[in-house]
Amino acid sequence: MIDKASQHSPMMQQYLGLKADHPDTLLLYRMGDFYELFYADAEKAARLLNITLTQRGQSGGQPVVMAGVPFHSIETYLARLIKLGESVAICEQVGEVTGKGPVERKVVRVVTPGTLTDLELLNDKTESLLLAVHQGPRNTCGLAWVSVTQGEVHLAECSPDQIGEWIARINPGELIFSAGATPAFEARLRKAPVNGALSITVRPDWQFDTGLGERQLLAQLQAASLAPWQAQELPQAHAAAAALLGYAEHTQGRALTHVHSLRVQRNDELIDLPQTTRRNLELTQTLRGEDKPTLFSLLDTCMTGMGSRLLKNWLLSPRRDRREAQQRLDAIAALQKGPWTMLREHLKGSTDVERITARIALRQVRPRELVALQITLQKTERIAPVVQALEGYLAQISDHLLPPAGCGELLRDAIDLEPSVLVRDGGVIANGFDADLDELRAIQTNCDEFLLDLEGREKARSGIANLRVQFNKVHGFFIEVTQGQVDKVPDDYRRRQTLKNAERFITPELKAFEDKALSAQERALAREKYLFEQVLDQLQPFVPALTRLARALATLDALCALTERALTLDWHAPQFTKEPCLDITQGRHPVVQARLAELSNGAFIANDTRMGPKQRMQIITGPNMGGKSTYMRQIAVIVLLASMGSYVPASACRLGPIDAIHTRIGAADDLANAQSTFMLEMLEGAQILHSATPHSLVLMDEIGRGTSTFDGLALASAIATQLHNKTQAYTLFATHYFELTEFPATHHAAVNVHVSAAESGRDIVFLHEIQPGPASRSYGIQVARLAGMPAAVLNHARHTLATLEAQASEHNAQVDLFAAPSATETIATSALDTAMAALKPDEMSPREALDALYQLKALASKA
Ligand code: ATP
Repeated sequence: MIDKASQHSPMMQQYLGLKADHPDTLLLYRMGDFYELFYADAEKAARLLNITLTQRGQSGGQPVVMAGVPFHSIETYLARLIKLGESVAICEQVGEVTGKGPVERKVVRVVTPGTLTDLELLNDKTESLLLAVHQGPRNTCGLAWVSVTQGEVHLAECSPDQIGEWIARINPGELIFSAGATPAFEARLRKAPVNGALSITVRPDWQFDTGLGERQLLAQLQAASLAPWQAQELPQAHAAAAALLGYAEHTQGRALTHVHSLRVQRNDELIDLPQTTRRNLELTQTLRGEDKPTLFSLLDTCMTGMGSRLLKNWLLSPRRDRREAQQRLDAIAALQKGPWTMLREHLKGSTDVERITARIALRQVRPRELVALQITLQKTERIAPVVQALEGYLAQISDHLLPPAGCGELLRDAIDLEPSVLVRDGGVIANGFDADLDELRAIQTNCDEFLLDLEGREKARSGIANLRVQFNKVHGFFIEVTQGQVDKVPDDYRRRQTLKNAERFITPELKAFEDKALSAQERALAREKYLFEQVLDQLQPFVPALTRLARALATLDALCALTERALTLDWHAPQFTKEPCLDITQGRHPVVQARLAELSNGAFIANDTRMGPKQRMQIITGPNMGGKSTYMRQIAVIVLLASMGSYVPASACRLGPIDAIHTRIGAADDLANAQSTFMLEMLEGAQILHSATPHSLVLMDEIGRGTSTFDGLALASAIATQLHNKTQAYTLFATHYFELTEFPATHHAAVNVHVSAAESGRDIVFLHEIQPGPASRSYGIQVARLAGMPAAVLNHARHTLATLEAQASEHNAQVDLFAAPSATETIATSALDTAMAALKPDEMSPREALDALYQLKALASKA
């Protein structure tokens, strides 16, 4: 089809030319009141949007397959396509209709999942991020990411095996990588676990260029060196930034002039929250994939989308260094005593200054967004003095809260308070802003008055009493005279049209008026478009100050939300200490507590936790449904809340340094990645053992349950031993293996605790209290009874249990579960390890490699 291009109609030639520049993107080609899609694009859109596929004529010897959507409902269709992970190029008519050849058209914007800016298409509580990943030499890779509506580029470098975790943490909507990446690396990127759909775009290799990236970043930041951001030694991240900024510019049709800041994220600056932890703690999504109830949905009482997005960022990116968290805690203390309710009232109804500012910079802003901005700037004038009166961190924020001088006035003077949705519909520029526009509008409004006046004068002049001055779309303005009166018309009347009973005339005065009136509307629209562009020009210098203002408003909003939560939910300030400790008094799980109150008006039982160098591990036992998982999770949630700078659901909390929160909880198959429940359990367990440190918090819920009892028990005890002796993390180890309650007897930093339950007859009452010592027994059969298991099954189970218990006491051969492996086992394993470690595959000849393989096999068979 394309190689027969010359045989295509001129319009199709134009289409195919544009399509060639956007091969992987649906091209919406503007034709009158429709956006049309052709050929394969049409077929795809028809399928995705359920719109009609039609065929019209032939071009290049082929039938033209097409599908179209009306231009006025484009936003709805765009939203649907983007949600499905598609990218869309929007092609508009930009030239004048000349009658010769097709009107000039241009792709004005490419809308992709990671570069959205339209407020209607974006989720106001979630940042839409674009991430570029570069595979560098020698086991390195670089990352650069940006939210097009935000104004900050982020850079990071990591090793390829960490890339999945980084992607999961950043959670982009769209990922770009180089066509030169190896298949193995590409597979890692495609497998990265993210919430929601990830759109992946491959870009040419040359766009990932370190030198280019550095130059682009310097230009973006208007700086001579990247040193102030400590970003100068990141060649792989610079390469990713080159592709990132190039792609963002390509989609927006212009550079991101509002992006003025840079942040480098280093692996060891943040508290490690692996994807499993974020999932298990249900931070932003429940285990069922819903948005609530989650920790974030409980926390987020922000008044603005900007505030919610920032709060989510604080929650998901807590820092090891506590300075920021402490600043936030101090701010909450100050707000609690002071004006937080009043500030929240002022923040209520504020618009998304952050996104609107980006849209001003990208010249995509809509008139109504500008009105919303102007109203918010007025409100901000009331907020700033209140915050200025506060101390410390809040006073620093207040410096940015004052709207830039002149910006509000410009918006108020220039934009009508109730403008049309689109500039092209007119009625956007306020009256009184531009004399020419006012005059053109006056012509339109004064039209009726003028015509009545003219009619009166012409009647008097001609003496024709039934003369009428009228207008229709085909013939324009005219004076109508009935046939019987025609001989009375003055000499300067020129005949325009003859009807059966009347003649229609035009006079020089009416002609002049017609020219002016007809063009006035058109000229007024053109003038409005021009003036709107001028206003956008005048707004550009305000962009940096508006970006800072947006950030200050978001910070204030997030802090006020945390203050509100602390007071409403009776949370208290945590205290950070330098020495290792994790002390919680009367801790609660805030989400379970809220759910209990909502569903059953039930009270949550608060529990204490004391951990430190002398007590690093708790072995937690107790009945099913007793509250073991809740207790462990509440500790993790409290640690996380404290680390982000929030008050916590406890009456007191002292917290030493924390570098990671690891969780191994629950059973779920990952069939998509061909991993069974048990395999997943072991993978997650292994990852924790490899990465946890003495400053990590580790939650192990029922490890070893996915295999046979002996296997599972053996693994659970070996893992507990490793965590206690080697890793030395703060470990919460919930188990149903009673044998593990022996562990603390031989391990000095471990203690038994249990969740209490009371028996009443055959029933069980859960007390949910954490008490010292091991649980006396398990209550599986009672819990099964509560769940409504048939009586016959319960009786059968009781009988079998009694038999098993009797057998167990007969063969009471004690195995020392926690003893270290024998000397020979250790030696064999370490001989194999030593031999493996000594291998240098890159330096071996094929013959040497084969010999080494035989040697390893021999060692393995001895082990
Ligand atoms: P299993 O061993 O079956 O996994 P579990 O001991 O981990 O059970 P959880 O899942 O933590 O038990 O708790 C079960 C339910 O008990 C919770 O959903 C909650 O309704 C209630 N619960 C748990 N802890 C408390 C508490 N401290 N106060 C009040 N209710 C609680």
